[in-house]
Amino acid sequence: MYCGRFAPTPSGRLHLGSLLSAAGAYLRALSQGGECLLRLEDLDRPRCRPEYKDSICADLKTLGFTFSDQVLVQSDDLNPYQEAVEQLLSTGKAFVCRCSRRQIRERPCQCRELNLPYKKGRAIRLDCEDVPRDFYDERLGSLHLSLLPDSLILKRSDGIFSYNLACVVDDVRQHITEVVRGSDLISSTPLQIYLYHLLGRTPPKFLHLPLIVAADGGKLSKQNHAQPVLERFTPAEAVRLALKLLGQSLDDLQGLTPSEMWQQAASRFDLAAIPRQDITLNLQPVPQLTPAPGGNDCNQLTQ
Ligand code: GLU
Repeated sequence: MYCGRFAPTPSGRLHLGSLLSAAGAYLRALSQGGECLLRLEDLDRPRCRPEYKDSICADLKTLGFTFSDQVLVQSDDLNPYQEAVEQLLSTGKAFVCRCSRRQIRERPCQCRELNLPYKKGRAIRLDCEDVPRDFYDERLGSLHLSLLPDSLILKRSDGIFSYNLACVVDDVRQHITEVVRGSDLISSTPLQIYLYHLLGRTPPKFLHLPLIVAADGGKLSKQNHAQPVLERFTPAEAVRLALKLLGQSLDDLQGLTPSEMWQQAASRFDLAAIPRQDITLNLQPVPQLTPAPGGNDCNQLTQ
């Protein structure tokens, strides 16, 4: 059975970019008659705050999403990540590294040859020499990544397990059959596929969604798209906007609850209608705590 997931990092409230990933993963799963799970990727303690876990779950509920099964919170149990690191060390492809981040940036790491013992304050890295550079994306077709790092961090020197390691461990234990996420993570995909192989697992399928970029091509700022989506839009407006940005039909959504809107959209989900390029969205900044004039700039965007 098809099993997808939405895996936000609780480093802030749900913003439009995350909503687009959630919508893509959710619609794809429902349209395949499958289920979609929720996972909170909160291992990077300095970036994540407990209140954001709660607010993300509350916002998703308000936006009409119903995820199957229990929410997996990564920080609840670190053992699966440690076990995976040990398995990777035993393949000889992972190694203990004593380089600082600066040294890694300045010159190739030579630690693999040194066979160093693990100690507090040392990192564990994976040699990336044999990572295959080609993979298939269910939406974009065959992709080739020419630039890959020499090595990949698995466990940081402060003891925190890396995103790539934890993501693979969890996609395996949640039995994910297809990963749907933003294309900012395309460069992680070959590394993750390689981790599946080293761990003796079959990789899921991958499907990357377009990103939302600011009108000047620059980074999203808190004043525009990265603003919490429910601070700016009503739930129904936010759902309509997400559907519109994903190229989906907005017909016959009038009067439906957000949850019914997702069901309706999933019943006619059109993968080919999702834009191939990143999406430039020209929302005017809204000063924080001040309602938008008229309160529904979403309608202006969607009609
Ligand atoms: N936690 C990641 C993020 O919020 C997404 C990870 C994934 O979907 O693989 O950007």
